[in-house]
Order: sequence, then C-alpha cells, then structure tokens
Amino acid sequence: MSVKLAETAGFCMGVKRAVDMVLELAQHKGQETIYTYGPLIHNPQTVELLRKRGIVPVTDIEEIPAGTKAAGIIIRAHGISPQERKLLLGKNLKIIDATCPKVGRVQAIIKKHAARDFSILIIGDAGHPEVNGLLGYTFGKGLLLAAVEDVHRLPPLDKVCVVAQTTQSVDEYHRIVAAVRARFPDAIIFDTICDSTERRQSEVKSLAEEMDAMIIVGGRNSANTQRLADLAALPGTPTFHVETAEELPVEQLAAHEKIGISAGASTPNWIIDRVVDTVTTRQADKSRQVNSIFRFWVWSVRTDLYSALGAGCLASTAMLFQEMTVRFLYIAVASLYVYAMHTLNRFINRKTGSIIGSFREESYRRHEGQYLSTSVLALVFSLGVGILSGRAAFLFLLAMSTLGILYNAQLAPSGWPFRSIRDLPGSKNITVAFAWAAIAAVLPPVAEKMPLTETTAVSFAFIFGIVFVRSVLSDLLGVQSDKLVGKETIPVLIGNDRTQQLLNTISLTLVVMLAAATTLVRTVSLSYFLIIPVIYIWICFRLYDRKPGLIGVVKEGVLETAYIIAGLSAWAWYLIFGGKGL
Ligand code: SF4
Repeated sequence: MSVKLAETAGFCMGVKRAVDMVLELAQHKGQETIYTYGPLIHNPQTVELLRKRGIVPVTDIEEIPAGTKAAGIIIRAHGISPQERKLLLGKNLKIIDATCPKVGRVQAIIKKHAARDFSILIIGDAGHPEVNGLLGYTFGKGLLLAAVEDVHRLPPLDKVCVVAQTTQSVDEYHRIVAAVRARFPDAIIFDTICDSTERRQSEVKSLAEEMDAMIIVGGRNSANTQRLADLAALPGTPTFHVETAEELPVEQLAAHEKIGISAGASTPNWIIDRVVDTVTTRQADKSRQVNSIFRFWVWSVRTDLYSALGAGCLASTAMLFQEMTVRFLYIAVASLYVYAMHTLNRFINRKTGSIIGSFREESYRRHEGQYLSTSVLALVFSLGVGILSGRAAFLFLLAMSTLGILYNAQLAPSGWPFRSIRDLPGSKNITVAFAWAAIAAVLPPVAEKMPLTETTAVSFAFIFGIVFVRSVLSDLLGVQSDKLVGKETIPVLIGNDRTQQLLNTISLTLVVMLAAATTLVRTVSLSYFLIIPVIYIWICFRLYDRKPGLIGVVKEGVLETAYIIAGLSAWAWYLIFGGKGL
C-alpha cells in the first residue's frame, strides 16, 4: 500500500499572500471587524475559523452596516472590477488590496487592449469572481468563452485579444485557443494561466495515471479544486473530492492499494495533513505488510509517548554529564512529568484550538477519557517519587507541576490583554524548554542532595536549547494553522526568516558552548558527543520545508528523535570511555 501526497498541494502564492495580509491586520485590529469582499478563500472551514476571529465575509457592499467600526475591507486574491472598487471607496473604509499580482497582470493586459479598441475574449468560468473582475476591466468590450462552442457563436470581430482565467484548465484553454485562431488568425493571445495552476494540474494528471485512486481536498465551491477532481478522474481513476478528513469514504478507499492526494490552491495545510494522516493510518491498519515498528513509532508520536521517551533520554544524558549514578527513578519522573504536562495542557486547551488541525486532533477527540486519566496518574506518580526522594525533590516537582498546570489558567481579570501565561507571545516555547531542562538536568542533583555546579548549568542550557529549537521548528511547520486560530507562536510573531535566523544563532551557540565546556568549566568529554543531536536538529531545520510529501506526525517524530539521539550519544560515550573522558 502507498499514499502519495502531491508536492503542489495546498495554498498557492496568491492565496497565501492574501491570508497573510488579513492575519497580519487581524493581529492589530483590536475588537474591530475586518470585512472580506467575498469569502477570502474558497474553503468553508477556513472561512469559519476566520469569522471567529472577527474576519467576516460580505458578498454585497450593502451588507456592511452604516457607520460600522471596521478595521478595513479586504479585496481577495481574485481581484474585483473597477466599478466595484469605486463602490468600496464610497463606503469610506480602509481598503486592503490582496489581489494576486498575477491576476493584476491579466487586469493590466485587458485594460491596455480595451483602451486600444480590442475585443477582449476571456477564457474562463461564467460567474467566477476572478472572471467577473476581469470583465469589469473590458468596459463593455469583453466576451466570455467557457467552451469551444462559445467561439462558434461569436459575432464577427475586428481586433481580438485573448486572455484566460488564471486557474483555467490547461487542456480546455488550448482547445479554445485553437478554435479562436481558426476564426481570428490575427488575434493576440496571452497565456495567462498561472504557472502554479499548470504545475498542480500536470502533477494531478500524472499522479492519477500512477495511482489506483485519487483524493482531491478542497472546497466544493472552489473551481480550481473541482477542476483537479475532473482531471484526476479523466483516466478512469476512482476520484473522491472531500472538504475534510471526516468526509473520506473509508470503505471505498479500503479497496485500493495506491492512493494519490492533491488539494486546491485554497486548501490549508492543516486540512490536507489531516486527510493524509487519516488515509495513511487506515491504510496501515488494513495492511499486514506495513512495518509494525513504523506503525508503533507513529502511534507513540501521536500519543506523546515518544516525547516522554525523549525526556527520559535527556534526563539520563544530564545525569551522565554531571557524573552521577544514573537512576531509573529520575528517568521515569522526567518521562511521566513531560507526558502529564503535554497531555493535560492539550486537554485543558483543546476547546481554544490548541490541537486544531494537528495530527493529534482525532486521537484526542476519540480517547479523551484515556488521555485525562493516564496524564493524572502520571502526574501523581511523579509527585509520589518526589515524596520518596525527599522534601527538596518533592517541592521542586510540585513547583514545576504547578507551573505546568497554571500555564493555561486564566489568572488575570477578563479584559486584560494577557490573562494567562499562555497569552504571552512566544511563552509556550520558553516554558516548555524551561520545564524540560529543569526536570531533566536540575531535579536529579536536587533529589540526590548534590550541589548545583557549572556542569548542571551547561546540562540545563543544552536541554533548554535543544527543546526550544525543536519546539520552534514544530511551530514553523504549523505556522499556517496557528495564524488562523490566532496563536502567537514565535514564527507567527517574528516571521519565517527571523525565526530561521534565531534558530541558526541558538544552534551555533549550543555547538560553541559544548565545544568549549571541557576547557572552560571542566565538564567531561561527553559535551563533544552532545554536538551530534544539535547537528541532527540543525539538518532537520535546513530540510524541514523541502519535504512536502511527509505527513505531520512523521515530521514531528523526526524532530523529536533529536532527544533519542542525545541519549544514544551519551550512552555511546559512556560505553566507549567508561564515563572517564577522552
Ligand atoms: Fe495567484 Fe495563481 Fe494563486 Fe490565482 S492560482 S491566486 S494567479 S498564484
């Protein structure tokens, strides 16, 4: 069995740009509404999320109440006609123009040729918002060609200019252009189909030839998604057009071995990821050939057990680094604490969208009771170990658990901008890294009543750094859904480029610190070995956006493997050098 995701699936440049512009405005709008002239994208789930954030679509300018306090009105990527723009200007609202530059180019071609008395033939879908906008630029000299037959119905024309809707079917475009050339040999023809549309359609065609069944993800009201579904079905490949993972025809899909997936230009990554994740899981469940180790690994990532194992690995690394006897109890406490905090926080926060679009969403919805009871048990057990290890260890664990649980608690009165620690921009990454480093590097010496030394500080900095980098990288992968639900993660706040600079700086600092630690603070030579997981995570970071076919759970698992690599490096050092050093 195989599931293949098209590399071109998801937001195109124009849609991404429009969504980014709206969300940027939403961050500073306060309580004011932002109107979008028509739904921002043809995707009902995204439009609903945006509505919850005060971004409201209107189909008619008159729907905007008189004297409304709005932060502005957005012109979406499809663009609008000059006549509609004039009406918007009359509303006295700030206009934010998110017309895709490629659509803007088609508008400019039409405007220029209409002014020179050309008849403008637009190859496109009747009633499509982009086509309506383009027709407006023809100032009455425009004619729509939706099919070859429309060419035969054209009246005799003198000067002819042809353009196409940017998301038009490439094959249909060529058929219509051939008919136009036959009737009007002097016609000036502009191929204005967007290159992203062409690549997407051509990939779907070849994928459909190769696969037993195809899934096309996207709004039913999206013309370009519908077109992809038609193209996929052309060679006779069973094709299923779904808007969300819940609509997947599980039983029908079970009859097919090789399944291809693509999505329209306005389908967000989080919806695609959930579809791929669901199909992959169901296919793996029915197939005995799938490596059971891989299935177990995916399950452990999804359920946070892999994170817990990673925390245990980091605790053993910190104990070896501080030349302590490695005690299983502290490894277990680190694992249980991390499991409890991750699952409890997801549980507390699930209604505010903390797991929306994540590969964990379905699992949390299905097994709420199990997650809640196992996380409470894990917390109680780790506190119990604290009691057995003495007062200092217990108080330390109690303080860390309180911090973990208070993270989501709304402590400030309503109306304050930051009601909980979670509301502080970027707080998640810092709190998570701090908690992991404290439990893995500081708890063991505290419980063993050992002094905290410079080596403890280096262990703490190493674990803090590596967990922080992993957590921000994970946010980089989920930046699209985080922006939509209004989460202020570091990539959302400072953008992709500056996040990458920050991660480069932290990775480099960690490498320098670990390389200099034996000389400066006389740590054991394990510090050299700990450079390996830093390099591993840095490689993941360089590659993270170049693997579009990987599903979310696999990407997350690959990142979390950095902790396992840290543990393996530490134990390799111990076995080679017996804990004595080089
Ligand atoms: Fe722009 Fe092409 Fe996307 Fe249309 S499909 S919005 S032209 S990038």
